[in-house]
Amino acid sequence: MSVLVMKFGGTSVATLDRIRRAAKRVGTEVAKGHDVIVIVSAMSGKTNELVGWVNETSPFYDAREYDAVVSSGENVTAGLMALTLQEMEVPARSWQGWQVPLRTTSAHSAARIEEIPTDNITQKFGEGMRVAVVAGFQGISPEGRITTLGRGGSDTTAVAFAAAFDAVRCDIYTDVDGVYTTDPRVCRKARKLDRIAFEEMLELASLGAKVLQTRSVELAMRYNVKLRVLSSFEEPSDEAGTLVCGEELIMESNVVSGVAFSREEAKVTIVTVADKPGIAAAIFGTLSDAGVNVDMIVQNVSESDYEGHEGKVTDMTFSCPNDQLKRAEKALEAAKAEGKLTYDRLEAETDVAKVSVVGIGMRSQSGVAARMFETLAQEGINIKVIATSEIKISVLVERKYMELAVQALHDAFELEKA
Ligand code: ASP
Ligand code: MG
Repeated sequence: MSVLVMKFGGTSVATLDRIRRAAKRVGTEVAKGHDVIVIVSAMSGKTNELVGWVNETSPFYDAREYDAVVSSGENVTAGLMALTLQEMEVPARSWQGWQVPLRTTSAHSAARIEEIPTDNITQKFGEGMRVAVVAGFQGISPEGRITTLGRGGSDTTAVAFAAAFDAVRCDIYTDVDGVYTTDPRVCRKARKLDRIAFEEMLELASLGAKVLQTRSVELAMRYNVKLRVLSSFEEPSDEAGTLVCGEELIMESNVVSGVAFSREEAKVTIVTVADKPGIAAAIFGTLSDAGVNVDMIVQNVSESDYEGHEGKVTDMTFSCPNDQLKRAEKALEAAKAEGKLTYDRLEAETDVAKVSVVGIGMRSQSGVAARMFETLAQEGINIKVIATSEIKISVLVERKYMELAVQALHDAFELEKA
């Protein structure tokens, strides 16, 4: 029997009416002969409300109780979805994470999935159940406590089930109709992609395209799970949405598939650090211990005998999310006070944004960087920092030019054309 995984996000189960609409889609797939595993999120807004209640009750909360509270939204939708399917005469039952059991690590509020035994659900399918409705986002720790997988975690639940049950596909129903070349709110010419490679999606997701939790894409790539992102508000069709899949399923694509951006970046320069072995390790070790996600790094040319410094000195520049800037500064200053690092001062810029072009086609085509930099130059946009990977080029620019940069790059790489 072929298993299909269908995941419904918060907006797709926001009301009883929408749950009914989602259940109809499930019924259609059952009629096609699939056994279906439905993964549900909490009704939209519910998880935020639960998180708010926890914070209000206990500012320094016990993470185990946080998970006990915030996981409950999914229990409600799972039960309601199973009831709705039963009303439609589709044999269905609900499963909470611990009943499967979806085993995770003990890292409460950010647990990782360790194992999904398939026996229980497979047995029920054998007995005539056609739909297993599973509460997303939750699992059980080795200590027997309820865990959650981090915000947006139901995507990861869905992909993990698809991998465990060797599903034909994992359909992610959401409120957008697919993955776009860039955010349509920033660039009106943004186009929906029919297909996108795992690696590209991973870059876009980690760069802030919020359609899928980044971990779910990592997991899909590792287990080669075909992922389809589609809207639950559109008429169903086989071509709907965007297929996130292995490169081998993408016949031909543009050199650049998408333009991503992140508005809230900060750039920090550590002025006059010693240029000797171990300094980069000391700086970035300090930042990583403080939980700062450093993205771009540039080490400037070094100078000898600089004003009162012995030996060679250099400036080190890095970027990180704006809301981690304070933490970064504090950690670096503490390291300086403890004598682990010496530098003259920190210079921070908080009005910067990151813009990136992403595409697997870059591996085989040269000239992408040149075209990107020329495009920005024509718009008079100054580039502050550059970083590249095999399939991505990112630049840091002044925030007020971010929209312009995205639009100009979208035009330059002709992303409106398929
Ligand atoms: N309900 C959880 C959240 O809002 C998990 C999810 O929907 O993916 O983050
Ligand atoms: Mg989501």
